[in-house]
Amino acid sequence: MSTNDPDCLFCKIIAGDIPSSKVYEDEQVYAFKDINPKAKVHVLVVPKVHYANVAELAEKDPALLAHVVQIAQKIADEQADGTFRLIFNTGRNAGQSVFHVHAHVLTGEVLPE
Ligand code: C5P
Repeated sequence: MSTNDPDCLFCKIIAGDIPSSKVYEDEQVYAFKDINPKAKVHVLVVPKVHYANVAELAEKDPALLAHVVQIAQKIADEQADGTFRLIFNTGRNAGQSVFHVHAHVLTGEVLPE
């Protein structure tokens, strides 16, 4: 659901209770460098409202999902050549480890296939 969760790691990062390397912030999203980067540029774009995954975000607030994609493009324009890979791991078996929706923005180099 959309109330912020006091036990959620990314809610704590957004609130500033856990440090992060901020890249961008507006009223709707917070973006920071992934602590375990998988590409030269690896940024997480996180909606401030707590949704568990991208499917829930798409259902509850599709405009916010579109905004996440626009911010991914902005980060790729500013930090790389405008190209980017966008990943939403959705569910534990797909590699999701933090159950607060986040887009992985990977760029800054030629990415492996
Ligand atoms: O898709 P998944 O849920 O696995 O992604 C979580 C990501 O959050 C990981 O890439 C991990 O490195 C990152 N992370 C982070 N800062 C933290 C905890 C996790 O950047 N404090």
